[in-house]
Amino acid sequence: MDSGSLFPAGEQRELKRSGVYLRIAVERGIDALDGPQGLTYCAIADEPVPALGERVMVPLGRGDRSAPGIVIEVGGSQLAGNIPVARIKPILSSTGTVLPPSLLELGRWMSDYYMSPLGMVYASILPAAVKQRIGERSVTLYAPNLAATSGQADTAPPLKPAAAKLWKSIIAMASSEFPLPARTLLERSGVKGVKAVQQLVDAGLLIAAHSTDVHAREIQSETVFASAERPALTPAQSIAVEAASQSLGGFHVHLIRGVTGSGKTEVYLNILERGLRLGLSAIVLVPEIALTPQTAGRFTSRFGATDVAVLHSGLTSAQRNKEWARAVSGRARVVVGARSAVFAPLERLGLIIVDEEHDSSYKQDRLPRYQARDVAIKRAHLENATVVLGSATPSLESWGNATATPPRYSLITLSERVGGASMPQVHIVDMREERRIRARNQDGSLQHLIGPTLEHAIAAALKAQSQVLLLLNRRGFASYVSCTSAACGFVLACDQCDANLVLHRHEGLPAGGLVQCHHCESQQLIPKLCPACGKKLNLFAGGTQRLEDEISRKFGAQGLIEGQTFARIDSDTMQSAGTYFDTLGRFAKGELRLLLGTQMISKGLDFPGVRLVGVIDADTSLSIPDFRAAERTFQLISQVSGRAGRGSLSGHVLVQTNNPTNSAILLAQRHDFVTFADRELKIRQTARLPPFSRMARIVTRDLSEAKALAAGEALVASLKSVAPASVSLRGPLPCPVSRIANYFRFGIDVVAPDARVMHQLLHTLRTSSLLKSDAATAIDIDPVALM
Ligand code: ADP
Ligand code: ZN
Repeated sequence: MDSGSLFPAGEQRELKRSGVYLRIAVERGIDALDGPQGLTYCAIADEPVPALGERVMVPLGRGDRSAPGIVIEVGGSQLAGNIPVARIKPILSSTGTVLPPSLLELGRWMSDYYMSPLGMVYASILPAAVKQRIGERSVTLYAPNLAATSGQADTAPPLKPAAAKLWKSIIAMASSEFPLPARTLLERSGVKGVKAVQQLVDAGLLIAAHSTDVHAREIQSETVFASAERPALTPAQSIAVEAASQSLGGFHVHLIRGVTGSGKTEVYLNILERGLRLGLSAIVLVPEIALTPQTAGRFTSRFGATDVAVLHSGLTSAQRNKEWARAVSGRARVVVGARSAVFAPLERLGLIIVDEEHDSSYKQDRLPRYQARDVAIKRAHLENATVVLGSATPSLESWGNATATPPRYSLITLSERVGGASMPQVHIVDMREERRIRARNQDGSLQHLIGPTLEHAIAAALKAQSQVLLLLNRRGFASYVSCTSAACGFVLACDQCDANLVLHRHEGLPAGGLVQCHHCESQQLIPKLCPACGKKLNLFAGGTQRLEDEISRKFGAQGLIEGQTFARIDSDTMQSAGTYFDTLGRFAKGELRLLLGTQMISKGLDFPGVRLVGVIDADTSLSIPDFRAAERTFQLISQVSGRAGRGSLSGHVLVQTNNPTNSAILLAQRHDFVTFADRELKIRQTARLPPFSRMARIVTRDLSEAKALAAGEALVASLKSVAPASVSLRGPLPCPVSRIANYFRFGIDVVAPDARVMHQLLHTLRTSSLLKSDAATAIDIDPVALM
């Protein structure tokens, strides 16, 4: 609990002000428009002055409601500026949680670069469990009094036998073991009764110190996944390790492009080992949904659970707080975690590894809208650390940096799978042809997500006892519910959003399910008949739920699969991290024969039993209204293909598409990243799109369409008034989803030749209060989704 809230507004203690002034970045959307950041308060007289970076509670606004903030400056009355000193309020309390100076500085950069209020940035750097101090309890630790130990027994008062026995075993212990809790002292000496401990304290032999400790259940480490085995590196891996390790101790960025199964994780482990040997600490970032016990287990089994702190969504709040505390104290020197682990409070940080660096989950889609990979590079720059980015399909931003002349990153390539495994054979299945086959077989009465070619392949794989993965990036049963009458043409859409409703089947619901809006989350029962004309409804664009039905229907009847041997993984079935980990565990053990799901199944998983991967609809990512559509399609097909044939037996992949000649799909089929990247970079260069420019996207929203548009137009006018000729502006245009939860949305794209020009432009508007991140305006720097 925040200690400030112990004193409800109006009943506060009368706090005396001291002569020490503090500048506080309050956790609210207050932005420094001009002048110094933060609000000024003073410390409380006769109480310790809070440290720089400490989280404190301060009175804010009318009624002096208690709000948290971070101390960003400590000084004299000059911090008051023009405000009369008598009007400056004392803070309410300190919390004891402190952000280290390196993170204070990183936060300042983020606030500036991402146009986010500083207090909000700091709020997101500290995990909620740490702010709320979940699981903390006070403990007393004991250490022998060194002065007393050297004086020896003659000056010491006589001790009772139990205390004497305890003291004897204490002085026999190594001094590095202290301080220890009473329980441990008693256990180690075989003495019962805490009185003995107190007696040694009273005699001046033991010193007691009070501190806090976080109590949490032990984190379960998944033994099915972990293997402490240390394989001999392949020549390519050795070269990669040597190259990346050379820069340890200084700032440098390496990009490892290694095909799926090329042993990148083994390379990371070896670089980490080198770093640890140099006394450095390290952060390993992995995409949230790939952060399974499988990944965590590979790190803990190599370095031991005491050295590695893990931050993933499967932890309780207390466990998270405990892991953070272990990083702060230096007991854990490696932190493995998702996006926000880039803020792990490690000292002597020497290495940051960003696995699957292209992954869009590194971008936070709410304030502060930061990109963890880029923050990692900035942090490494500030702290003189080495960055290793790794991916089979690097982002074009990173690839551009590694292939520029002169290169900004060093490029390391792992072009082959380890252990002689071959890359999977990828076959493209033309869905137009598949539909013709179905029609010839008069099998067209049902809609099929799985065409005859994939159907045969799945049956064959299941018969051969191998495992199958099926990817479909669409949740629910049907994404498009429309009237059967072409004359009517009615489509079920959300009242509050510019979006179609998606049917989700629910057992036990009479009409067969609920239609849901994936933007505002509203839902209702599906109407039995078309609300416009009363005819029957058609269900199109089947999702994972429909695929699940189809699997049971097609392979259940043949006895190839049953309910217990296949599972669906999407955000509807995986309500908790526990279920997700458990399902993956069952697949790893072979209990599950087939796994189907959204992109949650495409990342980082290493299951040697998978010999067939099916991509149900490669076109889902091609049709997104985004200049990165081709890049996303290439990545998705390559990543999910990479799950096939990782064991000793070869694997193959079937990709169903209506665009069999699309070059992103064809190049992914050939595992030809380099050609894909070179072609795509040329297109981007011609169109002046990132990475050949910097982009910012500003979205204005309002319940009134006219007001949202007017706000967008006013912004464009201010942008035009200060933008140099090298900047291009587009918009305001209705966003691809033009209305969400009744708010109309207009987007403005700002494209600048480089980051400096972009920053200067936006900064000018920010300091003159013309541009502000708030509920009505979202500013997204380096956006990864243009929704
Ligand atoms: P990537 O991350 O590049 O997809 P992984 O690091 O998951 O590849 O490695 C694929 C598999 O190969 C893993 O099961 C890993 O344990 C194994 N592996 C990695 N390096 C070696 C090696 N040098 N010798 C034997 N097996 C290895
Ligand atoms: Zn909606």
